[in-house]
Amino acid sequence: MAQAKPVHIVWHRAELRTHDHPALYHALELARKNGGIVVPVVIIDEAIFSRPDLTPRRQAHFLENVRALREKYRSLGANLVVRRGDVVKELEKLVRELGHVEAVHAVSTYTPYAKERDEKARKMLETHKVEFHAHGGQYTHEPGEVLTNEGKRYGVFGAYRKKWATLDKPDLVGAPEKMAPLPGKIKLGDIPRVEPGIALPEAGEDAALGRLEWFLKNGEKTYEKTRDEPGREDSTSRLSYYFNIGVLSPRLAFHHANTEKWRAELTWWDFYADVLDRAPESATQEFRPNWLGFPWRDGKDKASKADLERWKNAETGYPLVDAGMRELNQTGFMQNRVRMVCASFLCKHLLIDWRIGEEIFRGLLLCGDRNQNVGNWQWVAGCGVDPSPYFRIFNPTSQGKKFDPKGDYVRRWIPELKDVDKKIIYEPWKMRDKPKGYDFEPVIGLEEGRDRFAETARKFLKEKKETEKDE
Ligand SMILES: Cc1cc2nc3c(=O)[nH]c(=O)nc-3n(C[C@H](O)[C@H](O)[C@H](O)COP(=O)(O)OP(=O)(O)OC[C@H]3O[C@@H](n4cnc5c(N)ncnc54)[C@H](O)[C@@H]3O)c2cc1C
Repeated sequence: MAQAKPVHIVWHRAELRTHDHPALYHALELARKNGGIVVPVVIIDEAIFSRPDLTPRRQAHFLENVRALREKYRSLGANLVVRRGDVVKELEKLVRELGHVEAVHAVSTYTPYAKERDEKARKMLETHKVEFHAHGGQYTHEPGEVLTNEGKRYGVFGAYRKKWATLDKPDLVGAPEKMAPLPGKIKLGDIPRVEPGIALPEAGEDAALGRLEWFLKNGEKTYEKTRDEPGREDSTSRLSYYFNIGVLSPRLAFHHANTEKWRAELTWWDFYADVLDRAPESATQEFRPNWLGFPWRDGKDKASKADLERWKNAETGYPLVDAGMRELNQTGFMQNRVRMVCASFLCKHLLIDWRIGEEIFRGLLLCGDRNQNVGNWQWVAGCGVDPSPYFRIFNPTSQGKKFDPKGDYVRRWIPELKDVDKKIIYEPWKMRDKPKGYDFEPVIGLEEGRDRFAETARKFLKEKKETEKDE
């Protein structure tokens, strides 16, 4: 099917929106100038969809947002082409099918896999004399943009954030109000349905923009005070599962943010992408070389496997950890303070490899994102780019008492504890009668776990230092 007008393909990957989408914006500009036509496409990437962390809930979240994007394009007069398979091969087929394709426009992502995929696509397109235009848009400052005065990447978040704040911010680009229809005979392709097993948040950029508006009006002012309170469901924006597949533009959120605190939190999104871009090996190994070879328990021998299972199944006997894991299992979300406590409990109290927890979180969180998840897990474990010190070991009981003193969060997720007095809700072992359905003995004593980790880390890091001196 030869198409007389020049075609600009907009290849959506992890930015399922039409607002503030530089690739779409520039494709429309070029098409307007040369009388061309814009064809948006999503290719469901079999290589990504077959990964174990792409659990049914994450597949369904992605696909429902693809469906919403198609509806959005329809409402503008256009449509969305959907294909599935090997992305480079599918893109090539589409180029052939459409004929007369001038350029493919996409928003860059920076994981090692994404960089390799784009390089392959670029080479394939070259053979067809089709240009590949990569645009920014998924970050306010793209990886590699925020540099020290000596032109180096930052190793500390505070300094990165300071420099980040001084840089001119990119202009936002407008959303189209109307688009030309797609070439008549192009096959649109079906969007599969996957049973998520949990209730998903409303899909689509209108829902995400609505949530942002709600948060800016009702949540942002009190955010600094309430963000650590898991008992309040709206203490944070709950936008992460829109950011990670780009249903909402992080640049737009930053642009409208009014408080320093929320802006600072949004900066982490850029920082951890920058870290993985510069040190791709840190996706699977400790960022700090002095932590390489740390004797984590591997979750495979009988004892560590049993501990891991209890953590995963919310049966540790520590109510804040178990409430967090139940929330994660049942909803695909967990509040940040509780994430820190649950992650710390696994890799510090239980001494289990942070990589195991990272993979489990990435599969269960709807916002599961390699940059952010790896960065945060390594922060908690103590081996990351700008980590929490190894001797900072969150105590789930005192964290609960401090941040959820009435036990509202725990009661919501562990209704078996709903009638327990707030004075002992974090110490169920003090109850005379064990609550039915929640009668777990603590998986490990708090002091025992804390001391085992602190001693292991102290000894390991000391030996490493001595070996380094000897070398
Ligand atoms: C062990 C662990 C694992 C995590 N895994 C992920 C993950 O896979 N994906 C993910 O997006 N976030 C992750 N986070 C970061 C953070 O917990 C979530 O971004 C946040 O809880 C999402 O809720 P919110 O949208 O209401 O955030 P808000 O508090 O409203 O913050 C707004 C946005 O800022 C960003 N942000 C805030 N805090 C952080 C942070 N510590 N690190 C990175 N970005 C941050 C997020 O994009 C977030 O949506 C993890 C944190 C921990 C401790």
